[in-house]
Parts: sequence; C-alpha cells; structure tokens
Amino acid sequence: MIAQNFEYSAPGSLNEALALLAGDDVKVLAGGMSLIPLMKLRLATPGQLVDIGRIAGLNYIREDKGVLRIGATTTHYDVESSALVRSRCPLLAEAASYIGDIQVRNRGTIGGSIAHADPAADYPASLLALEARVVLATAKKQRELALADFFVDTFTTALEPGELIQEVIVPVEDQSTGTSYQKMIQPASGFAIVGVAARVRKSGGKVTMARVGVTGLAGKPYRAVNVEKALEGTAGSATDVQKAAAVVADGVDANSDLHASAGYRKHLARIYTMRALTAALSRTV
Ligand SMILES: Cc1cc2nc3c(=O)[nH]c(=O)nc-3n(C[C@H](O)[C@H](O)[C@H](O)COP(=O)(O)OP(=O)(O)OC[C@H]3O[C@@H](n4cnc5c(N)ncnc54)[C@H](O)[C@@H]3O)c2cc1C
Repeated sequence: MIAQNFEYSAPGSLNEALALLAGDDVKVLAGGMSLIPLMKLRLATPGQLVDIGRIAGLNYIREDKGVLRIGATTTHYDVESSALVRSRCPLLAEAASYIGDIQVRNRGTIGGSIAHADPAADYPASLLALEARVVLATAKKQRELALADFFVDTFTTALEPGELIQEVIVPVEDQSTGTSYQKMIQPASGFAIVGVAARVRKSGGKVTMARVGVTGLAGKPYRAVNVEKALEGTAGSATDVQKAAAVVADGVDANSDLHASAGYRKHLARIYTMRALTAALSRTV
C-alpha cells in the first residue's frame, strides 16, 4: 500500500519547525523508520509532515555541567559510536548498539524512538535506569520532564499537541558505576522480547546504588524499584542478585503475543535482570 497524500515541509531551523507544528493534523518526521511504515499501512494518515532531519541544531551530543545533552535527531549509530557517550555514559551507547540493524541505526533517531514509545524499544530501559530527562518544546514554551513521567502507555507519551522532543539529558556516569544492558532479541525485527538495563555502585563491600529499567515486558517500560531496593545494602553476591531479580515481574501485567507468552516473558525478565545486574556488578570499580 502507499501512504495517503500529505504535505511535506523540511524547515531549516527549530523555530520554523515549531511554528509549522502549531498547525492541525501535523506530524514530525525524523528518521522515518517507524512513521513511514505506519503511513504505508494507513495506520497513520497525517495531513502534513514536518521533516526535522535537516535542522542542524537538533543533531548534537555535548557534555554540559555533569550531564550529556543529546539532540533529538541524533541517530542510534551516532550514539553507539560517539567517543563521548562511550566514555561518559556507556550504558546508552550499549543500548544503541542493540537497536535493529545498521540501516535502522543509521536512520533512526533517539527522539523518534522515545516519541514512538514502542513497548519493546531498547532505549527506554537504559534511559529509565539513567533517570534521564527530556526537553520538550512548542512555539510558546519549553519544559523538562523525567523520562519516567514521559512514557504514559503503549505508544502513548506525555507529548502535547504541537510539542517536539528537543533533547535528551543523561548523567555523566560516575567512573565507579558498573552498567549493562541485556536483551532477548526477537530475531525477525531485532526488537526486545525483554530487555533489562542495570546500573550499580558499590562501596565498602556493599551495593550503595542500584537502578534497573525494563522494556518489552509490560505495556510501557518501567523502573523495577522493588529489585533496586532488594539489592541495595547487600554484598551483591550471586544469591543477592538472584533474590533481587526474582521480584522484577511481580505485579506486572505482562505482554503476551506470538513471540512469547506472559509467563515466559516474566521468566525471561528474571533471567535478564540477573544477567544485567551480574554484568553491571562485574564492571564496578
Ligand atoms: C526493521 C526495523 C527494526 C527495528 N528494530 C528496533 C530495535 O531492535 N529496537 C528499537 O528500539 N527500535 C527498533 N526499530 C525502531 C527504530 O529504532 C526507529 O528508529 C524508532 O522507533 C523511530 O525513530 P525515527 O527517528 O525513525 O522516528 P520516525 O519514524 O520518524 O517517527 C516515529 C514517531 O515519533 C514522532 N517523532 C519523531 N521525532 C520526534 C521528535 N523529536 N519530537 C516529537 N515527536 C517525534 C513521529 O511523529 C512519529 O510519531 C526498528 C525499526 C525497523 C524499521
């Protein structure tokens, strides 16, 4: 099928894009990896597309006072291969390297991925574990939101009409932190059947900080705070990790589809949480 007719604009500046987005029936086009297939299936029929891919001021990765600021149109490949991200926030580079294939990573963008809010997308697990924030902009205002408040439901976010993701903010990682992203891959698409991101810090033989983000299991990605609490204060032994990972799916309404039943997904979540925590603990300094 081909897409329904639409108007196309390719503004050269953020202000121009925001002015166009203030109109009715308008959608942002970034890498097109998710939106174009939806349009070809006529599951999305926007009257106008605003292509933000040519706005130079939206494609950047820079360090700024203890955080990395990543522009919305930064591609997955740019994140994966950036020396700055690899050294300052390795968890995000690792997550990016797991997305789809090289073609998808060359076109797909970090802003597009989180705006699309696919419940099996890779970035959200890491971004939640990183306690990332997003900067959202309209023609009239700018606001900053925790990623945890951005994901509302399956394919649903806190984006308001006319609003654009301008940048993603992640912390510059303390060098003593160990991180890992572990994913059970759906072989046909590359998406996560279940993906778990872990960040841990140890001091004096005890786990002093644990952050765990989970994707693929539920209708939206979430932080497994119960796992974090179960691990913090322990020695981080194999038994401690196993006990903490055991609760990752407690109370979660798990997805079920032809790739994995809800019960199998919950089992995978426990296994991948163990793997992510074990790998992250082995990387603490
Ligand atoms: C074959 C294939 C395999 C894939 N495998 C994986 C995988 O393994 N893991 C994974 O995580 N993803 C995977 N993806 C999805 C991929 O990561 C996409 O890049 C991503 O989901 C969408 O990014 P995009 O830049 O292409 O956005 P687009 O497709 O251009 O847009 C997607 C949605 O986001 C909106 N949008 C885009 N940018 C913004 C913005 N800055 N502000 C507000 N709204 C915006 C658009 O209006 C649209 O609704 C795969 C895609 C394909 C085609």
